Amino acid sequence: MSLSRALPGAPDPTLDLGGRTALVTGAAGGIGRACALRLAAAGAKVRAVDRDDAGLAALAEAAAGLPGTVEPRLLDLTDLDAAEHAAAGTDVLVNNAGLQLVRPIEEFPPDVFHTVLTVMLEAPFRLIRGALPHMYGQGWGRIVNVSSVHGLRASAYKSAYVAAKHGMEGLSKTAALEGAAHGVTSNCVNPGYVRTPLVERQLADQAKAHGIPEERVLTEVLLQDSALKRLIEPEEVAEAVAYLCGPRASFMTGTSLVLDGGWTAH
Ligand code: NAD
Repeated sequence: MSLSRALPGAPDPTLDLGGRTALVTGAAGGIGRACALRLAAAGAKVRAVDRDDAGLAALAEAAAGLPGTVEPRLLDLTDLDAAEHAAAGTDVLVNNAGLQLVRPIEEFPPDVFHTVLTVMLEAPFRLIRGALPHMYGQGWGRIVNVSSVHGLRASAYKSAYVAAKHGMEGLSKTAALEGAAHGVTSNCVNPGYVRTPLVERQLADQAKAHGIPEERVLTEVLLQDSALKRLIEPEEVAEAVAYLCGPRASFMTGTSLVLDGGWTAH
């Protein structure tokens, strides 16, 4: 049991997204960054959407030399009209951007609840809405929604996040039913705790607050319900996203690809 990095298998070298345009939200960091790099490695032209300018610049630098391209798009997803507009003409849409606030319902600020639902549910709806005309027109499209174990299970003190992720599961299934006749699939990817800056910061904060080493926070708090006692790496989530965009997943739609180390087996 440790915080050491797992070694994900090599990316599927057969995935070819050459000629495809992909849009990834929340691409400046964590899972979104890994997804943008993975899709560009498969040859896609990636529109990398985020509100973090510096993170986008670093991503573009990291993507130099890949077969595909990464084109930074500075955008705050609370601007819903701009989000819908940005998705026009994309073949692959990865709804990934998210935020979290941990607070009991009676203390949860209503404006934060509204923002979480806007960024994590309404913006994905608007992005899908913006992407579908082009996807339907060509008879092919891939929508991948980065959900969470919290799209399937609740945890206390995460009302907005859990509500948004459960809503995303429903949105994804509905898009799958409507898109099927047009060659468009829609699926969720549901990770447990991923090694992202957000979670690493949480580990350090929890360790400090509890006066215990980070390893104990990991096992006793975050990984309590996970059978596999490690964090999942962003690259592992990105590979699942890439799989859903490839030909091997062409019959998968309206479902959730769960990468939770056994959490939901309970
Ligand atoms: P992160 O905080 O590292 O990255 C999220 C990105 O979204 C950031 O770059 C941020 O700038 C961007 N973003 C947030 N609000 C935005 C807005 N209004 N407009 C534009 N961009 C915005 O988080 P992450 O851990 O990589 O999470 C990515 C997704 O994965 C989220 O949907 C999250 O719910 C989901 N997820 C994360 C974990 C985990 O343990 N980290 C587990 C399951 C699911």
